[in-house]
Amino acid sequence: MRLIERGSGSPRIAVVGGIHGDEPAGERIVDRLADTATVEDGTLQLVVANEPALAAGARYTETDLNRTFPGDIDADEYERALAPRLVSVLEGADAILALHTSQSAPPPFAIYSELTETVRRSVTGMPVEYVVDAGSLRDTTLDSTLPNTISLETGKQGSTDAVEFGLEATRDFLRVHGILAGEPTYTETTVATVDEEVPKGSGRPEVFYENFEEIPEGEVFARDEEYTHRVTAPGTVPVLASEHGYEDIFGLYGRITGTIEPPS
Ligand SMILES: [Zn+2]
Repeated sequence: MRLIERGSGSPRIAVVGGIHGDEPAGERIVDRLADTATVEDGTLQLVVANEPALAAGARYTETDLNRTFPGDIDADEYERALAPRLVSVLEGADAILALHTSQSAPPPFAIYSELTETVRRSVTGMPVEYVVDAGSLRDTTLDSTLPNTISLETGKQGSTDAVEFGLEATRDFLRVHGILAGEPTYTETTVATVDEEVPKGSGRPEVFYENFEEIPEGEVFARDEEYTHRVTAPGTVPVLASEHGYEDIFGLYGRITGTIEPPS
């Protein structure tokens, strides 16, 4: 783990890249901020989480870090022991942004597990049209472990766009919390609540709908040799939909459940 700190005192705001080693955008964004950010007020914590996985260009070395929180400091698996070290660095931060990329198509979006006032400000202050409420899904991710944490899917894995968009969105996040000078533009953000993983089996995977695109009742979202996922619930939208992004899922099912309004 690599930690770079700028500024001093409160608020303390953190940006974490490299939770997944095959998503180089996060580390590049962190490094660009380390080189360029002039801290107006408070402390900026910049963290590169999983250096061995980044060096290997692999999602993880032994187990998925974002499926192991809070982890176990005595564990043999590298990521399981890394998780509590990362938590101890970030714990108590006033707001945390975790950077990710994926194999699914644009647009970029944010993810939270618990909607606090800080999360509302973070999400509506960033240039994302959608935010995913993953609160009912699992409790082993960083955003479900530490309060006031959001994840940001900045774009396609390995793309320059993911770095450029992620850098701009991260700067807005830092403006929201007073770390960088200037006011962000707050906008209403649409919420998709996810509650179900869509399992993937073997054989050639096919996905027929993109993120946040409503799947008509009775239509097939995705299929392979083992599964044909026909949607029966009205208003279903896919999130993190991709054919080759994950070993075991095609993505998640969610539905549009409302909007988050900017802070008044
Ligand atoms: Zn990731």
